[in-house]
Amino acid sequence: MTANDRLRDATFVSGLQQCVHCGLCLPACPTYHVFHTEMDAPRGRLALMAAASEGRVPLDGALRLHLDRCLGCRACETVCPSGVPYGALLETARLAIEAERTPSTAERLVRRLALHELLPRVDRLRRLALVTRGLQQVGLFKLADHLPLSLDRIKRMAALLPPEISTEFTRPGVYPPVGERRGRVAFFMGCVQEALLAHVNAATVRVLQHNGYEVHVVPGQTCCGAVAYHLGDEATAVELAKHNVAAFAGDYEAIINNAGGCGAMLKEYAALLGDGRAREFVARVQDVTEFLAERLHHAPTNPVPGRVTYVDSCHLRHAQRVVGPPRRLLAAIPGLELVELSRPDHCCGSAGVYNLLHPETAEIILDAKMADVAQTQATFVATTNTGCYLQVLYGVRRWALDARVVHVVELLDMAYGAGRKAS
Ligand code: SF4
Ligand code: SF4
Repeated sequence: MTANDRLRDATFVSGLQQCVHCGLCLPACPTYHVFHTEMDAPRGRLALMAAASEGRVPLDGALRLHLDRCLGCRACETVCPSGVPYGALLETARLAIEAERTPSTAERLVRRLALHELLPRVDRLRRLALVTRGLQQVGLFKLADHLPLSLDRIKRMAALLPPEISTEFTRPGVYPPVGERRGRVAFFMGCVQEALLAHVNAATVRVLQHNGYEVHVVPGQTCCGAVAYHLGDEATAVELAKHNVAAFAGDYEAIINNAGGCGAMLKEYAALLGDGRAREFVARVQDVTEFLAERLHHAPTNPVPGRVTYVDSCHLRHAQRVVGPPRRLLAAIPGLELVELSRPDHCCGSAGVYNLLHPETAEIILDAKMADVAQTQATFVATTNTGCYLQVLYGVRRWALDARVVHVVELLDMAYGAGRKAS
């Protein structure tokens, strides 16, 4: 589809026309708080998209600059009284910009490597993470500070790595239920999640088993395609989506995932592929917190003493509208006190690969989040997304906070007497 086809599409145009320019979305927008300009707020970005749709502005220049600066967090969508489908409009505009753009040879190579050779191959991602972590531990990145080399992006990626990379990998197979059998579910493990936070996947499987579910870690599953899609590479996203729809075709009550960003993308497959199999797939996709909040067949009984605050994943809160379930699960854990952030609706600055592409802006947004976290004096900071987990882990180190970053299921796992111990 050409850029013009996308920008003149009736759904895109009518979505833009839903905006009544009230400005109620401005305070919800994290980038508006950073740049203080209309064009870095939802209303201004929508005006730019409308101008592009009418051929009044080119696709590079201001349109691209301000859409690039958008986190895609969709906080504006949640507060909009007019129901403007901001996320879908942003994706369409980004696909149109990509259709017109000619990336440099270097960018094409990096994208090819990341989107085709790494993200769909969890075994390669794991090896890369371990090698990078090793280089970081022996101080090679510090040494590079003294060399006339620009390794900024690699060093930033290394800074986001967890201090310990778990090797508790979840292998394809069938994990039997503990106690009475309640059902049969499939588990989508994600790519970066399994490479960098394998212990979260292991805890997810255990908690599901503990609640009576037979967990199928389906072979042949691959990256959800979110990174490719958000970077405007629709063809790669479609290819990955088809692969996953085929891999999860078995008879499962639900397809469980534990990362808000991946879950939001999996739920997009019906719109992306537009066929019955994809719709049937989407109908079964659920975040693990969404699933368990309704099916906590065994109450957790081991106390996890401490104070926890919850950092919402934007793609869970704003895109999937899952807000209550993670909080209900945390509240069910004995000994744990849940303390809300003052701005739980604000992004942490991770936003897929935003923190790698826009590190300075991401750090300003992260610092606002960490100031909020520090106020709670939490001993645990719970998340439900890979990017948020890594970003907040970096934030806790940057702010020297005495708090442990965990996924909600890790706390449940501890409360069932398994996993890494409460400290
Ligand atoms: S996007 Fe919604 S909230 Fe923002 S200006 Fe338009 S109508 Fe108002
Ligand atoms: S998606 Fe997030 S960053 Fe982008 S305009 Fe909406 S609120 Fe602002």
